[in-house]
Amino acid sequence: MRVVIVGGGLMGAAAAFFLARRGIRPTLLERHRIGQAATNASFGNIRRQGRHLAQMPLAHRSRALWGEVADLLGEDVEFRATGHVRFAFDADALADMEAFARDAEPLGLTLEICGRNELRSRFPWAGPTAIAASVSPEDGSANPRLVAPAFARAAARLGAQIVEDMPVAAIAARSAGGLSVETAAGPIEADLVLNAAGAWGARLAEGVGEPVPLEANGPQMGVTEPLPHRILPVVGLWSRIKAEGVYFRQVERGNIVFGGGHREPVALDPGHARVDPANTLNQLPQLERLCPAIARVGIIRTWSGCEGYLRDMLPVMGASRTTPGLFHAFGFCGHGFQLGPGVGDVMAELIATGDTSTPIAPFAIDRFAA
Ligand SMILES: Cc1cc2nc3c(=O)[nH]c(=O)nc-3n(C[C@H](O)[C@H](O)[C@H](O)COP(=O)(O)OP(=O)(O)OC[C@H]3O[C@@H](n4cnc5c(N)ncnc54)[C@H](O)[C@@H]3O)c2cc1C
Repeated sequence: MRVVIVGGGLMGAAAAFFLARRGIRPTLLERHRIGQAATNASFGNIRRQGRHLAQMPLAHRSRALWGEVADLLGEDVEFRATGHVRFAFDADALADMEAFARDAEPLGLTLEICGRNELRSRFPWAGPTAIAASVSPEDGSANPRLVAPAFARAAARLGAQIVEDMPVAAIAARSAGGLSVETAAGPIEADLVLNAAGAWGARLAEGVGEPVPLEANGPQMGVTEPLPHRILPVVGLWSRIKAEGVYFRQVERGNIVFGGGHREPVALDPGHARVDPANTLNQLPQLERLCPAIARVGIIRTWSGCEGYLRDMLPVMGASRTTPGLFHAFGFCGHGFQLGPGVGDVMAELIATGDTSTPIAPFAIDRFAA
């Protein structure tokens, strides 16, 4: 079976690996370098807490794979199950925290809820105005710069063909059957194609008559100078106010990586995402509220990345409704890093068997058709 994957971000690279593990050796076409788009820019949060509940089965499958990823890939991509804590600073946030904990529990995610006293003893560095915290102890982070190339290398060792600098202009059904992938080096025939082109995936979908309401935006990120390593979990907060929604983690070397708040619109051509310094200035007091000790730390770099957001903040995953043999996995709305290994595994299962044991119906591409 000839399988072509378009896009070498985390989704495409992980799908290549899991297909190759099933004995199907795909060809992956990446127009630039493996992992260089949204995946590389990611904050690296591997969190299920606060996630849309429709994604929970997929997120669990992915979390299990993160736990095995070093063995699967034969290299350390710095996955650490450090835990993920979110603080509440007001009654609305507390209500949202408790509602999420209640709704997530039957779906297999148990949060530890801490009142004011317990949170002070567990997280002595937390801001004094926090009134509660929720902890997801098995969540954590990994290094976004390492993951996609590691999946691609492991896929190549299993026989996948990884082709960089190979833009795909279109995917089309052939009258003789199968699909044609139009590349810069001419057409490639395929039995099955996976569109894993990230924020650019909607263009390929539109080309086969499946338009979706996708906007490209760039989350706003930054990193500080290194400090002594004191903070283990990934840290965030519950808030109904978008500008307050910041998060951070301290990497083992000591730097504090942070992000959140407003996102900046990105033009898909050329797809360069920028940081608005006003957003960085807004993030700083929010970070200080989470952890006053980082108030006077120097910021050494800011960055952003081009990510696709669907109107309902859910990705597109599953079979094309117009083009037999074509599958989609794109538009991960700023939270696809955690899902990546699971998406690769689910798409490989779907492509290889025609079905998947993890429910993905809420992500069907035709949900916008009405
Ligand atoms: C700044 C930032 C922070 C984030 N933080 C987190 C986080 O902490 N936790 C989390 O879970 N998620 C996070 N995300 C989201 C997560 O990084 C993405 O959802 C995920 O990496 C998407 O992977 P992808 O493979 O779909 O897309 P991408 O990594 O963008 O890969 C798509 C690839 O397709 C290629 N491509 C596009 N068009 C073509 C074409 N026509 N031909 C060939 N190749 C093509 C691109 O060059 C690109 O390499 C963040 C995203 C950003 C931008």
